[in-house]
Amino acid sequence: MKIAVYPGTFDPVTYGHIHIAERACQLYDKVIIALAGENYKNDLFTMEERMIMLKESVKHLENVEVESFVGLTADYAAIKGAKALIRGLRAVSDFEYEMQMAAMNRYLNENLETVFLMAEGKYSFLSSSNIKQVALIGGSVHGLVPPIVEEYLKKKYQELNYK
Ligand code: ADP
Repeated sequence: MKIAVYPGTFDPVTYGHIHIAERACQLYDKVIIALAGENYKNDLFTMEERMIMLKESVKHLENVEVESFVGLTADYAAIKGAKALIRGLRAVSDFEYEMQMAAMNRYLNENLETVFLMAEGKYSFLSSSNIKQVALIGGSVHGLVPPIVEEYLKKKYQELNYK
């Protein structure tokens, strides 16, 4: 059984992420979307919220599992028996960081291959950060994120504005 891990912060998940997951599902028997539990970015959503949004957004994919993890992605992939780590590439600006990460993960786990899937053109400008920026100042992100994410962003927007 060919298993791939697709790790990320998913704060929140966008159609860009989902498109990568859908394509990975065509290539592997099982794709584990791995929500990174510990990170050093400023998260808007809690782990629990991110998990709810992710699970709802990929429920149409039969060979996907969503899990959270802490620690090194390379170790997590080994425990799961995954030989591939999926990452999405949007622009040249992603490349430098992703190349370093891939080399480091390879050093940490020599059985793990990072596989890059190019972002779909129509989603290549999308990031969790710019979604948050637009939504939190009241713009529409309709068509860029699943309906549940739109709802959660609206709720967050209201909470932040009525504090
Ligand atoms: P991280 O915090 O690890 O960068 P993200 O949740 O931001 O995690 O993204 C996870 C993966 O999905 C990364 O490989 C990222 O490049 C990719 N990704 C993010 N947005 C898109 C998009 N619009 N199209 C394709 N891949 C994307």
